[in-house]
Amino acid sequence: MDVFRIDATLPVPAARPAPPLRLSLGPGVLEATQEVLRTESDGSREALTLWAGRPRDASTVLVSHVITPVVEADHDWLTISLPERTAIAAYLRREQLLAVADIHTHPEAAFLSDIDRQRPFSSRDGFYAFVIPNFATDAPGDGWRCYVEFDGDWREVPKKDAVNDWPG
Ligand SMILES: [Zn+2]
Repeated sequence: MDVFRIDATLPVPAARPAPPLRLSLGPGVLEATQEVLRTESDGSREALTLWAGRPRDASTVLVSHVITPVVEADHDWLTISLPERTAIAAYLRREQLLAVADIHTHPEAAFLSDIDRQRPFSSRDGFYAFVIPNFATDAPGDGWRCYVEFDGDWREVPKKDAVNDWPG
């Protein structure tokens, strides 16, 4: 895995807030996410990364880490091996971080596909899934769509409802 971490002191570890969570993106997180996904997609394959962080208050998680697993991927599919999933879980535990969202690319339009819905990275209530169009070649945040999971169902939510100070 590859990790981007914000250059700042993190809040003290705390229990996961009850959903719905609000995400506060640390400095550079949006830009680092778009860049790593554009690089990993390389115009030809899906890519995925994770947002993780620590609670800043009773409902908000400061997203401090962008964690990019090693994946197997092609134009319109992506899988993460069990050892890589296990390594990520161990990293999150060791660093006392909460995973709050996954972010993945599509070749063209951004939408949560049937396969995405059937095989989420996490099925925890309140976990977010962002989908980025055009293999992440656009400007940071452009065209992203945001979905949230509750009771096994995913529904789209406005990005402003999920992310504090969403740009634009
Ligand atoms: Zn997808």
